[in-house]
Amino acid sequence: MSDAKIAVIGGGSTGSAIVHDLASRGLDVTLIERGTIGSGTSGRFHGLLHSGARYAVNDPKAAEESILDNEVISKIAPHCVEDTGGVFMALKGDDQSFADKFESACKHAGIPIEQIPTEKLLQEEPFISKDVSIAFSVPDKTINSFRFITSLLLTAKSEGAKIRLGNEVIGFDVEDKAVKGVKVKNNISGEIETLKFDLVINASGAWASKILSDYLNINSIKMVLSAGTMVVVNRRFAKRVVNRLRLPSDGDIVVPYFTESIIGTTSFIVDNPDNFEVDEDDFKFLLAEGAKLIPAIKEYGMSRYFAGVRPLIAADEDTGGGSRSISRDFKIFDHGVTDGVSGILTIVGGKLSTARLMGKQISDFICDKLGVKTQSNTDKIKLLWPDLSADNLKNLSKSLLVSESLLKDILFETESKTYGDIYSPVKDLLLSKELFS
Ligand SMILES: Cc1cc2nc3c(=O)[nH]c(=O)nc-3n(C[C@H](O)[C@H](O)[C@H](O)COP(=O)(O)OP(=O)(O)OC[C@H]3O[C@@H](n4cnc5c(N)ncnc54)[C@H](O)[C@@H]3O)c2cc1C
Repeated sequence: MSDAKIAVIGGGSTGSAIVHDLASRGLDVTLIERGTIGSGTSGRFHGLLHSGARYAVNDPKAAEESILDNEVISKIAPHCVEDTGGVFMALKGDDQSFADKFESACKHAGIPIEQIPTEKLLQEEPFISKDVSIAFSVPDKTINSFRFITSLLLTAKSEGAKIRLGNEVIGFDVEDKAVKGVKVKNNISGEIETLKFDLVINASGAWASKILSDYLNINSIKMVLSAGTMVVVNRRFAKRVVNRLRLPSDGDIVVPYFTESIIGTTSFIVDNPDNFEVDEDDFKFLLAEGAKLIPAIKEYGMSRYFAGVRPLIAADEDTGGGSRSISRDFKIFDHGVTDGVSGILTIVGGKLSTARLMGKQISDFICDKLGVKTQSNTDKIKLLWPDLSADNLKNLSKSLLVSESLLKDILFETESKTYGDIYSPVKDLLLSKELFS
């Protein structure tokens, strides 16, 4: 066993999964997150636990990874997942020849797929457009990311991990081109301290390249910050996730999320994930495209919107397809090799659906480096979920350093209310000052 001290920067789905994997193998690991649960993209995503079908034709590796973890996450975190099923449907006038390509790509990626007669689909899903011409069912599901991350952190904590929410990395301690620690600022008290670590993992999603460039002058990772807007309709119209049968594009999916529907998405490049504007014309566009799949959307309109930023890795060459054509696969960078600065690794890309797999792969890499032989078991460890008595909520809120009101929203809310701009977890965190004393 190694006694190396490891830090993980970023407590989104990726960082939380890494911390769980490393702690479950008995390693000494600390998570450092500037906000709280779901402050980043993981609290502003579309809610889909991918079957991989969306990527089967143009991004087969991401499709294969998705279907593997779709099944694993459903087993280890059933309290976070709704087994909605998904349908991919072509409408009259769409390119009908795409159906064959789609079906064979899904089969190739190992995604269970079945054609559904359109009359049967319309019987089961009466709100779907009568213009449906071809339909396939696939095992898409939905996942509540706040619950998923809370469960990952609770489990990691029970395995010995240290969790520091509300702590922002504002620099590194570097000696002879080797990272020896991080400088952190407590965003509640304003206190600044330097913490010593043997290895630092940068899992800060859309902020990953900025942290490297601002604090280590490392500019080797080229990211594409692809923002996406989603609009929420205050009504659930279908049991299944409803997808348009075509290559991934804007406005091609309606996700049933508890009692609401989330229509998405768009894709536009931003410079700064902390400060970008959403084009209000996108709301109309998304409602109109959503209504092509489910006409009743027109009668309801939008109740609100939110937006998040995809942490994508730029392709080596411009494929000409914009950010939609960039792979949803993930990569690990060892900066000792790529930039001559040792003691720091970065992981970027991927999807919330592949977070556990990302955690496993970077932990395998680290264990190899440290000579640790323990294998990952995170595909079998059931994630913890607390008992919900008032006493336990109090203890839990202290141990996770989040206020009771935020925890209650996460634990009891049955809507997508916790997603996006309507809710500000960071503001809530600021209200929970006493927890940091
Ligand atoms: C519009 C949209 C729709 C999507 N839909 C889906 C979907 O349906 N299904 C799916 O599987 N995936 C989806 N994704 C992709 C998925 O949301 C992301 O891949 C995933 O959430 C990224 O997680 P992460 O942990 O890497 O990043 P984040 O969740 O962004 O976590 C990074 C964390 O780092 C923290 N951080 C930043 N700087 C610092 C610092 N200096 N110090 C400490 N902490 C710091 C941030 O606060 C943040 O919490 C979608 C993405 C978008 C944008």
